Amino acid sequence: MSASIVIVDIDGTLANADHRMPLVLEPEAYPGAHQAIRADADWDRFWSLLAEDLPEPAIIALANAMHDAGFRVLLFTARPERFRSVTEDWLKRHGIRFHELHMRRECDSDLHDLKVKRLMFERVIGAPQRVAFVVEDRQAVVDMWRGMGLKCLQCAPGNH
Ligand SMILES: [Mg+2]
Repeated sequence: MSASIVIVDIDGTLANADHRMPLVLEPEAYPGAHQAIRADADWDRFWSLLAEDLPEPAIIALANAMHDAGFRVLLFTARPERFRSVTEDWLKRHGIRFHELHMRRECDSDLHDLKVKRLMFERVIGAPQRVAFVVEDRQAVVDMWRGMGLKCLQCAPGNH
């Protein structure tokens, strides 16, 4: 079985979401500190700003290069399915080439991101040997992928 799949995260990886993270995360106590969810997190406003995310050009170039080299590029995001069209518009606007976009199902709305992605993996891929590598920013999710035996390129600290 060849490793023909590359999994790429969106928020904090292809998309720079820094401008909206303060709406839902506590401030960083010191550089690199874990950031907890705010008690007064404004999720509606957080999601309303998706279209304004800036692209991460180097990570987009990496995903596109893997796509053009013949790998299957699967985007795995914990964004809810109801934001599919704004997400697809953003991906198109910033020239991201990919094969599949997998999003959080409504029935998984209460699950932590890492459980959402684990379920996504089991549903869509199944065997770790099929994956060349994952690109991901969030430490907890990076740890999960590595714990499953996958190679994971971590592109930012992701301490939330
Ligand atoms: Mg992320």
